[in-house]
Amino acid sequence: MLVVLLGPPGAGKGTQAKNICKNYKLFHFSTGDILRNEIEKNTEIGKKIKSIINAGQLVSDEIIINIVEKIVSINLKKNNGILFDGFPRNLDQANAFHELLNNIEKKIDCVLHLSIDKNEVIKRIKKRAVEENRKDDNTEVLKSRIDVYLKETSPLIELYKKEKVLKKINGMETIENVSLNINKVLDLIN
Ligand code: AMP
Repeated sequence: MLVVLLGPPGAGKGTQAKNICKNYKLFHFSTGDILRNEIEKNTEIGKKIKSIINAGQLVSDEIIINIVEKIVSINLKKNNGILFDGFPRNLDQANAFHELLNNIEKKIDCVLHLSIDKNEVIKRIKKRAVEENRKDDNTEVLKSRIDVYLKETSPLIELYKKEKVLKKINGMETIENVSLNINKVLDLIN
């Protein structure tokens, strides 16, 4: 099963991703986690992307697609599937993803769109900034991450709606309820 988790920063993607992967035995593929790990280890990629991530901008599609190709080929057969958390992030990535999956005769089974209000986004990110000490969770950077989401990522909602794989989940409910609603959707596919 190939599932994509889509939603603005602070929608609860990380929390729900953990539940989904545990319940459905999927590999949790978070591009953000992988990129932060590159920065922490101070690798060549890490050095290149540090200022981009800290400014809340998107890392180049080339770097991302290389990572995706590697992770997909390693993890596809090892698990019941993969949960993509934070990818694709724009239309070019979605097209490259489509092609990559086409080449291995796979398709996205479901795109979960976790939707929340803008005010709630700000409230949650401020809380996370204190709890997790993420450099890209401060107010200025948050503004640019929301802008990037609206401009670059949100057009994917229409794309996947047209492809009939989009499922909207109300992310304003409690963590438990959001999780239950996600399970209802995925039970029908699994
Ligand atoms: P996330 O943990 O998904 O919120 O990602 C944190 C940051 O990593 C983003 O603000 C981007 O700078 C970068 N990033 C994560 N995923 C992608 C992606 N698919 N394409 C480009 N940049 C990404």
